Amino acid sequence: MYRLPGFEYYRPLSLEEALVLLDKLEDAMVLAGGTDLVLDLKTGRYKPKSIVDTSGLKELKYIVDTGEALRIGALTTIQELVDSPIIASKTPLLWEAAREFAYWQIRNMATIGGNLCNASPAADTAPPLLVYEAVVKAVSTSGERYIPVTEFFLGPRRTALDKKELLVEVVVPYRNLERHGYAYRKIGRRRGHDISIVSVAVALRVDDGLITDTRIALNSVAPVPIRARSIEEFLLGKEPSIDLFREASKLVDRDISPISDVRAPAEYRLHVSRILVEELLLKSYKRAFKGGFE
Ligand SMILES: Cc1cc2nc3c(=O)[nH]c(=O)nc-3n(C[C@H](O)[C@H](O)[C@H](O)COP(=O)(O)OP(=O)(O)OC[C@H]3O[C@@H](n4cnc5c(N)ncnc54)[C@H](O)[C@@H]3O)c2cc1C
Repeated sequence: MYRLPGFEYYRPLSLEEALVLLDKLEDAMVLAGGTDLVLDLKTGRYKPKSIVDTSGLKELKYIVDTGEALRIGALTTIQELVDSPIIASKTPLLWEAAREFAYWQIRNMATIGGNLCNASPAADTAPPLLVYEAVVKAVSTSGERYIPVTEFFLGPRRTALDKKELLVEVVVPYRNLERHGYAYRKIGRRRGHDISIVSVAVALRVDDGLITDTRIALNSVAPVPIRARSIEEFLLGKEPSIDLFREASKLVDRDISPISDVRAPAEYRLHVSRILVEELLLKSYKRAFKGGFE
């Protein structure tokens, strides 16, 4: 147990070379930072014939502000997100999630692309990216396409990517959230050093005293990271109040289907989800109006 199986190892140094390899190799898997995959190879979860190590593709390491969105290269590490003033100022929800992600050694290896492609229900970059309605760019030798993060996760460890596609970029529009209040919180067994028991990201906008947009995303409480659509629809057009947010938070039961595992029982996850949704709606409202309710 815990021994790496045999496989053919390739380390392309250009995107083009990587795509050709993925096209021609049968049963290949992509390696980025390896913080998920190496463990999965050692435990026998995956037994690919070949590994295409993308860590040499320097062209996939960048954070660019287009004025409307941030374009983040798939090989950007979580620590690079934490260290980026652009991420902190333009996409603060993603920055907060990156700060709470594992610890320094892991953050230095783990990539944003790997976090999404691993498709764990507990992926910590997912709730903020669902709230920003980010889009990922996938490329193969046949061309490129953009997939909304809301449609990217198909199930635990299953994504909308084809085997021959590489995720190369995450596009995070931020302009549409500039007038929102926002809040993020992760609950784990140890603060910041563990996989989420539940993480919640919220953005809320109020115009002329009425809620005009709410986005709520959670991880670790369903087979994939999800948006809490029932609560979002319930809040739309209503006047914000402490009572309204409490009532809304109970609707989270309709959106999530937590399981019990080594980290927490399902009942705890449900209970904490309700509390966090209520707390973060209030916090978002306070941030939007720099005060809150009287
Ligand atoms: C001790 C420890 C603590 C952790 N803590 C956290 C945490 O707090 N929060 C959290 O969310 N995760 C955590 N993780 C999980 C892991 O670190 C993250 O999911 C990480 O972001 C994975 O990125 P990676 O670059 O290491 O991916 P890899 O392990 O290299 O790859 C992961 C999967 O994605 C695929 N893949 C990678 N890149 C691409 C690409 N560009 N295109 C197509 N497929 C691709 C691989 O084939 C593989 O299936 C932790 C892991 C460990 C070991």
